[in-house]
Amino acid sequence: FIMLKPNRTLLKVIVLGDSGVGKTSLMNQQQYKSTIGADFVTKELEIDGKPITLQIWDTAGQERFRSLGVAFYRGADCCILVYDVNILKSFETLQNWHDEFLKQADPTEPDTFPFVLVGNKVDVDGGNSRVVSEKTAREWCASKGNMPYFETSAKENYNVDDAFICIAKTALLNQ
Ligand code: GDP
Ligand code: MG
Repeated sequence: FIMLKPNRTLLKVIVLGDSGVGKTSLMNQQQYKSTIGADFVTKELEIDGKPITLQIWDTAGQERFRSLGVAFYRGADCCILVYDVNILKSFETLQNWHDEFLKQADPTEPDTFPFVLVGNKVDVDGGNSRVVSEKTAREWCASKGNMPYFETSAKENYNVDDAFICIAKTALLNQ
């Protein structure tokens, strides 16, 4: 239960990806009001003059077991997929997270459901330990109906705000 100011649009966003890729850190870069006793945080922003409340659901570590529960997925307006550009496995499992989302959330229009891909930790070793190129990531996004793509560093707060603005816009399209 969350108290909403009148005229605000509430969008549920869920964040998926392997353990350790930086999902929680990306959320903590933002100015959130924590919601007591719930598994999500909220962020208020304005898109084209329209007040939006993003309700962003984090996994609290259960992603290791792929057992997130149906309440986690239910009613999502956008799914953020996160991988670590320095860890190939975290990129390779994106397809599984994508498929798992569609299976569990069961959206009415799975072919056009909004996803956003985030390649995190671009700061590590000045980019020298990177194993997934931007080109490779963008090719995967293209194969998924032109999923928007952002490269971020939660540590250095690089590109994180822009990613969340895009996430809000993408989720709005689904309203
Ligand atoms: P989660 O398991 O996906 O929620 O990942 P966390 O947010 O807990 O981050 C896992 C570890 O990676 C932590 O030690 C973070 O401090 C670190 N981390 C997260 N994002 C970045 C980043 O952009 N750059 C660097 N260098 N470390 C990061
Ligand atoms: Mg986490």
